[in-house]
Amino acid sequence: MGESAAAAFGGLQTGKDVADRIAQLVWEISGYRFIYKLSKPSAASDSVRMYSFYCAQNEDEVKKSQVNDDPRKRRARMKMSCFPCKGYLHITVDDENLELPLRLKLKHHLSHLHYVNISISKNI
Ligand SMILES: [Zn+2]
Repeated sequence: MGESAAAAFGGLQTGKDVADRIAQLVWEISGYRFIYKLSKPSAASDSVRMYSFYCAQNEDEVKKSQVNDDPRKRRARMKMSCFPCKGYLHITVDDENLELPLRLKLKHHLSHLHYVNISISKNI
């Protein structure tokens, strides 16, 4: 691991921590924000899990997550533009050995306006 990678991944305790950190880096680099959805154990090993994230503006996932929502909350969230981008991020991490190279699969089929962090953009 290079020095900058060690700094970026230092202090991470679990596979979920590593996956969250990578999703954060992908957001910083690509401008697309990925939201954690679920994790699944790998067929190959009990300690290996695949963490799935979806693009915060992926309209398929945004619609699904709104089904049981309070309509007032839903209206607030609809301000964010959504796209049929099919954006997913899958990160495979070995919980027992976080130093191992991990597998990262990013799917994003459509470029769209980037996710804007409202609290940051106020200060610009
Ligand atoms: Zn997207």
